[in-house]
Amino acid sequence: MRPTSPDGLLHHPELGDCHWIRSERKTLALHVMPDGRVVLRTPRRTGREEAWAFLSRHAAWARRHRARISSVDESQAVPAPSLEDGSILQLEGTPHPVRYALEPRRTADVRVDQAGIVVRGRDAAACHRALERFLEARTLERARALVPPLSARIGRTPSGIRTRRSVRRYGACSRAGIITLHPLAATLPDDLFAYLLCHEMCHLRHFGHTPAFRSLLLSIRPGARAERSALFLHRLREHDKIGENRPPSSSQEEQSP
Ligand SMILES: [Zn+2]
Repeated sequence: MRPTSPDGLLHHPELGDCHWIRSERKTLALHVMPDGRVVLRTPRRTGREEAWAFLSRHAAWARRHRARISSVDESQAVPAPSLEDGSILQLEGTPHPVRYALEPRRTADVRVDQAGIVVRGRDAAACHRALERFLEARTLERARALVPPLSARIGRTPSGIRTRRSVRRYGACSRAGIITLHPLAATLPDDLFAYLLCHEMCHLRHFGHTPAFRSLLLSIRPGARAERSALFLHRLREHDKIGENRPPSSSQEEQSP
């Protein structure tokens, strides 16, 4: 039986839910991510039985490896999509072609219409900066719209919200109550963005990923577990597009011969 979607979950009795991603690659590979998630990557034509057999063969390796690594939450780590002329940028979950219109002008600007994202500027560098600023503004605008209802549920308000390109994750919450979002959070579809912000705001009450944190998060977003997986897959898909199936450098891989 073949799964109906390109990405899916395989449930393994010892490893739990394992992510299965099919792409244009030629070999099967199993990765253990820094947060302990197991990701199986296969060619598109790979069927469920073959995937399952590969997973089973390497389950002991995955279990051993997972036992060695720490449990840092890497599901929010951010891929680095191109913002260049001619690239495709997800904006709020919808792919938009990016076009640079070079013209002599003092300040660059960004317009979004049916044709995609048009950035007008005097050169490519100015366009690139303008697009980065645009994503920052979109991310902050989106977050600010969601904070009041979340504050009412959680009983806490962030002491500040900012964006930062340097962070490796879509979101982070400091002990001082400052929420930092990556500008590329603007690329996430609405439900994943809402999950992200809710996750970070729950840290205003419970700093660690404790049972109390999880129950607060689940009380507000009952689908949080699935959304966390979806966020993780979103990021992996971006990696697939960008890095030729290269796993993040901190992960370990076991590959078929
Ligand atoms: Zn967290």
